[in-house]
Amino acid sequence: MAMDAEAMVVGAGIGGLVAATQLAAKGISVLVLEKYLIPGGSAGFFERDGYRFDVGASMIFGFGQQGTTNLLTRALAAVGESLVTVPDPVQIAYHLPNGLAVRVHRDYEAFLQELGDRFPHERSGIRRFYDECWQIFRCLNAIELLSLQEYRYLFWVFFQNPVACLGLARYLPQNVGDLARRYIRDPELLQFIDMECYCWSVVPADRTPAINGGMVFSDRHYGGINYPKGGVGQIALALARGLERHGGRIRYGARVTALLPDREGVTVRLANGESLRAKRVISNATRWDTFDRLVPLPLPPSEQQWRDRYQPSPSFLSVHLGVKADVLPPGTDCHHILLEDWAHLEAEQGTVFVSIPTLLDPELAPPGRHIVHTFTPSWLAHWQHLSPSAYQEQKTAAAQALIARLERLWPGLSQAIEVQEVGTPRTHRRFLGRMDGTYGPIPRDRPWGLVGMPLNRTPFPNLFCVGDSTFPGQGLNAVAFSGFACGHLVASTL
Ligand SMILES: Cc1cc2nc3c(=O)[nH]c(=O)nc-3n(C[C@H](O)[C@H](O)[C@H](O)COP(=O)(O)OP(=O)(O)OC[C@H]3O[C@@H](n4cnc5c(N)ncnc54)[C@H](O)[C@@H]3O)c2cc1C
Repeated sequence: MAMDAEAMVVGAGIGGLVAATQLAAKGISVLVLEKYLIPGGSAGFFERDGYRFDVGASMIFGFGQQGTTNLLTRALAAVGESLVTVPDPVQIAYHLPNGLAVRVHRDYEAFLQELGDRFPHERSGIRRFYDECWQIFRCLNAIELLSLQEYRYLFWVFFQNPVACLGLARYLPQNVGDLARRYIRDPELLQFIDMECYCWSVVPADRTPAINGGMVFSDRHYGGINYPKGGVGQIALALARGLERHGGRIRYGARVTALLPDREGVTVRLANGESLRAKRVISNATRWDTFDRLVPLPLPPSEQQWRDRYQPSPSFLSVHLGVKADVLPPGTDCHHILLEDWAHLEAEQGTVFVSIPTLLDPELAPPGRHIVHTFTPSWLAHWQHLSPSAYQEQKTAAAQALIARLERLWPGLSQAIEVQEVGTPRTHRRFLGRMDGTYGPIPRDRPWGLVGMPLNRTPFPNLFCVGDSTFPGQGLNAVAFSGFACGHLVASTL
């Protein structure tokens, strides 16, 4: 059977699009098959009543202008695209138990000062902990970040910068919790570090790899958090545009139902009955969806081993609100984390996340209005086996409870709401095609840093995986790394 493309990518999430654009930029023929109507997946958008809501992500790393870790900037540039971004002066305003309120300023010294004011007896430990995170970041930022499974690249990068590589190798098996306890004793401050990790890794510091911590805790002050004008969906739209300009193709409404790898390539079956062939296929579906739904059984032993070490994280209950602008006082920050009781950090609907992207780009909402997107971890099991009316009632009650908690930050919020859309783990599963609507893999126990995360190869030589269930995990800049690595690896095999 003739090949329809040299490489096919299943899914137009940011991981899939970065892999596809990297291949297209190298002159390889690429076809992306996306089941939904627009690209972006968890970094997509939807519009209602004049509002443009981000589906998920809105605290965006990787958009800096310097170094090598600004992978979103670099992925766009590879296909001749760039986006106007708005710098966010504060990454997160934390509202934590016992009145612990800390703002993570873009300015590193301002952040250390504010945290040190709250824990004066730990001032030097705080600096030493975050300074060590900078050491990790400097190592990452000194090398070109490409595939760890392409040996010529590994040799080349090692001889270019042996100090940075050895530095990173040292941190690879470590966790943020180990690092933090080296310098910090105060239990409340260690809980704060747990939250610093949880808010992007959805696990506390002991289960968060030190390399990811070094990246996040430093890049927010180096490249900074920058919001793309027009909304997060612009990233995927720009990547898709650049892909097509470089000869790649993208088909929407193309749901892949089976991937059949063989010695020469992979046969791709679509829901409409079509069969396509490619020399290499990259799946941007999660590894669970790829191996449980697309690739015929039995499950390869390496995938089982990974599942023994990592489990799916919860999904989210998401409430997208359009509100009257005057409910937010002047000087409100864009991103907030709210938790009333440390015992509920990882609980169902425990930690509350809030993004107000219209503070950075007012054009996402009608004049005089703001978007308040709030979400909280929730398991699919909590939403199953309900009649349609019971499901609706539970959705309404959960949204009201979430909004009531936010009233503490913004009194009058519930009265200011004009538009409200509620998504549950069922919504995330349905629209994002992700098993149980999961946010991604989390370690079952204390991991050895990043050592256990699978890279892009699979047991089938012509089938690869990209996205947040591959190294280094969740987040747009992380899946962009996975996309760079995968594109580079697949190109090397062609
Ligand atoms: C509520 C929420 C908030 C978040 N906040 C942030 C944040 O502030 N900052 C940050 O950096 N990250 C954030 N994230 C995480 C980030 O959005 C994800 O880690 C990242 O977008 C995942 O990208 P991906 O390419 O791995 O997969 P996905 O985004 O899941 O994309 C996979 C794509 O594959 C398609 N697909 C799946 N199966 C098939 C099939 N069989 N056939 C065809 N197409 C298929 C899907 O439709 C989808 O478009 C958030 C996520 C959520 C859910």
